[in-house]
Formats: sequence, structure tokens, C-alpha cells
Amino acid sequence: MNTTILYSKAGIATQLMISVEEDFFIVDTGDGTLRDLFFRKIDFGKIKGIFLTHGHYDHMAGLYALLGHFRIIERRCPINIYFPKGCKEAEQIIFAFQESYDDFSFKIQTYEVKGGDEVKIKDLEVKIYQMRHYAAVGVNRILHPDVAVGYRFIHQGKEVAISGDTGMCSGLIELVRGADVAYIDSTLEEEEVTDTILNNLHLSQKKAEEIGRFAKKYIPIHLQGDEEN
Ligand SMILES: [Zn+2]
Repeated sequence: MNTTILYSKAGIATQLMISVEEDFFIVDTGDGTLRDLFFRKIDFGKIKGIFLTHGHYDHMAGLYALLGHFRIIERRCPINIYFPKGCKEAEQIIFAFQESYDDFSFKIQTYEVKGGDEVKIKDLEVKIYQMRHYAAVGVNRILHPDVAVGYRFIHQGKEVAISGDTGMCSGLIELVRGADVAYIDSTLEEEEVTDTILNNLHLSQKKAEEIGRFAKKYIPIHLQGDEEN
């Protein structure tokens, strides 16, 4: 099992790819996911599942393009899409695609997931953990809670955790604990940190590093500005 960060930048786009033997799984589909997959010459027929952490645009604006591309290439095998229960954006985008076309050649199988759920795809196991992530506008002006989950991929003894966006919560520690590699939200610059933001919106790089110690290795994602990842 290998993990690739296709692209990750807070407020722009985040998408990762898990490869397991012949199959690919995409985790979040921010804007440019289709481009990123083309760039890496990925065989689109081998993408078996899409896992969405939450419905914010920088994590799923590329979903429609991906589905559109599957239609153009006359994909035959079904695509499984997993998203947090109650994620309106995912429901609506998939619905819009299905309502726009009656001539696409593949089946879309959707699964609403929540903390505690487990998914099995051949010998890949995926455990779902509830995250805490509020909607926010402007400069971290917090509005209301949105549904968000993290995913832990387990294959042949290797475990990879991907947090998506999250504030500090017990689910996050459970998600990361003992993983071989954990990809953790590291959005906040230190000067932005307040308890409210840290608990409800995103982690800072310092906090992500702290949480990352629960895993064997951690990789910060969803950074701002010019920083990598
Ligand atoms: Zn978000």
C-alpha cells in the first residue's frame, strides 16, 4: 500500500491517492484532481473508490470533473463513493451528475459513513473516525459544525491514517494512534491559533506534530501559502 499526496494546499485543493496492488483509491477530490491524475498517467479504470473527508470545496470541487471524465472514457466498472453521513455537498454533486446525464456507462455506488464504521474492499480495510470541523468564512470566522471524518487504511499489516480537516478531538487521536504513517491537517500559522479555532477548525503545525507522535511517522498536509504539501 502506497500513499501519494496528489496536491494539498489549504483553501485551494487537497487530494491524496492510495494504491493497493492494482487498485487506486482517491481521498478527497479538490479542484485539479483530474489534472493531477493525468499528470501521473493513472489508469482511470483502476480507480475503485473515492473517499471524501468532508464537503468543503477545497476537498471536493474536482468530484464532478472526475465523474465527467469517467463518462467520457465510457468507464464500465462501478465507482464507490464514501462520504460522511449528512454531507450535503457530496449528495448534491453526485445527484447533479446523475440528473444531468442518462447515458453514462458506470454505476455510482454511494456510502454514507460515520465514526465507528468499517469498510472492506477485497483485503483492504478502512476504518472511519469522526472528526470535528466547523464551517468558517473570512479570517477563521467560525459558523456551524459540518460533518467530517478521517480514514484509516489497513492493508497487509500497514496502516495509513488521513485526518482530512479537523480541530482537536478524541477521534483524531484514535485515528492516528499506532499508524505507520499519519497525514495530518496542519493549516494554522502559530499567530492564528486560539483555543476555539484549534478545537473546532484546524490544527497548527505545532499541534499536528504533537498529535503525529501518536503515529510512527507523520506528514503535515493542508498547509497555507508557499509551503510544501
Ligand atoms: Zn474544510
